Amino acid sequence: MDTEMLIAGRFETGTETAEKVLNPRTGEVILELPEANEDQIDRAVKAARDAFDGWSRTTPAERSAYLLKIADRIEAEADAFAALEALNTGKPIHAARNDEMPGIVDCFRFFAGAVRNMHGTVAGEYLAGHTSMIRRDPIGVVASIAPWNYPLMMMAWKLAPALAGGNTVVMKPSEQTPLTALKMARLLAEILPEGVVNVVVGQGGSVGNTLVHHPGIDMISLTGDVATGKKILAAAARGVKRTHLELGGKAPVIVFDDADLERVVNGLRAFSFYNAGQDCTAACRVYAAPKVYDNLVADLTQAAASIGYAQDDDSANEIPPLISARQRDRVASFVARAAEQNHIEITTGGAAHEGPGFYYRPTVVAGALQTDEIVRREVFGPVVSVTRFTDVDEAVAWANDSDYGLASSVWTRDVGRGMATAARLRYGCTWVNTHFMLTSEMPHGGLKQSGYGKDLSGYALEDYTVVRHVMVAH
Ligand code: NAD
Repeated sequence: MDTEMLIAGRFETGTETAEKVLNPRTGEVILELPEANEDQIDRAVKAARDAFDGWSRTTPAERSAYLLKIADRIEAEADAFAALEALNTGKPIHAARNDEMPGIVDCFRFFAGAVRNMHGTVAGEYLAGHTSMIRRDPIGVVASIAPWNYPLMMMAWKLAPALAGGNTVVMKPSEQTPLTALKMARLLAEILPEGVVNVVVGQGGSVGNTLVHHPGIDMISLTGDVATGKKILAAAARGVKRTHLELGGKAPVIVFDDADLERVVNGLRAFSFYNAGQDCTAACRVYAAPKVYDNLVADLTQAAASIGYAQDDDSANEIPPLISARQRDRVASFVARAAEQNHIEITTGGAAHEGPGFYYRPTVVAGALQTDEIVRREVFGPVVSVTRFTDVDEAVAWANDSDYGLASSVWTRDVGRGMATAARLRYGCTWVNTHFMLTSEMPHGGLKQSGYGKDLSGYALEDYTVVRHVMVAH
C-alpha cells in the first residue's frame, strides 16, 4: 500500500499528528498516517510554482497526451484502485469497480479531448489600427481539496480540467480517505514532469488551512461542506484567490400524479440510497402529489427494506456503511429528532445496523412537513423524506425553498409538465424521469449555498482557465 506523499517528484512521510484511516465495514484501523508539516506543504506549493512555467507552456496536444496516459494507467490498474477504494470507504467492490472506475478514466479522456478544442472567442480590429485577440490561459497553482464520499472520482474531477488548462496542483484528499490518492500519486509521478501534481495529506483544519492560506496558491477548489466552503472563501478573500466550490445538496424530487410509479420507486431505490446517501445529489427530499402519495410511501418503504448491505458476501451488498461512527451517529440523530414529531412516521429503517461497521438501515421518513429539519438539512445518509403536496405551485415553491441548489428531479408522463417544472427549479441540474445520472460532457455544479463553478464538461475547463486580452498596435 502506498503511504507516502508526493512533493516535488519525491516521496515523503508526514511528521505531524497521525490520522487513523479506518475500514468502515469493520471499524478496524487500516493504518495510521502522519500528516504533512508546514515545511512539506510549503515545498509542495513551491514545487507546483516551479513547475508552472514549463507546464503552462506545453501545447494542448502535449497535455492531452499526458492525460490520455494517466487514463490508460488508471484503466490498467482499475481492479487495484477499486479494491483500495472499497477498503477505505466500505463501498461494495462491484460499485467501486463498475460504477466509478469507468467514469474516472473517462474524465481524463474527456478533458484530453476538450483542451484541444478550447478556443478564445475573437480576433479582430475593435479600435482602428489595433488588433485584439482573446486568449484562454491557465490560472496558476490550484489547491484541490477533496471529500471522502468519492475520493478518487473527486480527485479526477479536480485534476483533469486543472491540468488540461495548464495549471499545476497541490492536492489534499480527505484525511478519512487518502489511500487511492496516494496510489494515484505514484502513478502521476511516473507520468508527469516533477512538481506538476503534488499530494499532501492531513486534516482540514491544519494541512488544508495552511494550504489555502499559502500565498503561492492562486485558486482553491473545494468539494465539501457548506461550512468548509465559507472558511475557504474567507481564506481566499485575504489573498484575492479564485475559488471553485462544490458544496452540499438536498435534492428535491417532485412526483406528479401521472408519474410511472414503478419507475419512480425503482429510481428512488437506486438514486436515494446509492453510496448510502453520501452523495450531494442523492434524491433525499421527495414531494409526492396527493393521489400518488400513499402508494409511493408503501412501495418505497418495501423497496428500501429490500436493499442489501452488511453481508459477508460483498456481491450481495448494494450500499456501503457510512464513512465513520461519527457520521452514522449524526444520521441517527437526524432520524431520532424527526421521529419525535407526531406527524412523522418512520416506515422502515430508523436505526443503526447491529453488528460491526458503521451501517445505518435504509430509512423512509413519511409525512414530513416543509418546516421539518429532516426536509431542510443535509443528512448525507440513507434517509429519504416524503412530503405530500397539493398543486404544482406548492411543489415548486417547496422544492426551491432551500439553501441548497445542486440537483433536483421531476417525475411525470407529461413531457410539457416536466419541461415547465424543470424551468422553474433553481438547481444546477434537473432530471426528468431519472435522477443522479452524470456524463463527462455535461456540467455538474450548484446554485445558492451549494456553491459555484462546474465540474466536468467544457465549463470546468473555462473555470480552470482565465480569459485574457492581447492587443497589438499596427
Ligand atoms: P468537509 O467539508 O468536512 O471536508 C472536505 C475537505 O475539506 C476535506 O479534505 C477536509 O479535510 C477539508 N477541510 C475541512 N476544513 C478545512 C479548512 N478549514 N481548510 C481547508 N480544508 C478543509 O466535507 P466532507 O465531510 O469530507 O464531505 C461531505 C460534504 O461534501 C457534504 O456536505 C457533501 O454534500 C459535500 N459534497 C459535495 C459535492 C458536490 O459536488 N457539490 C460532492 C461531494 C461531497
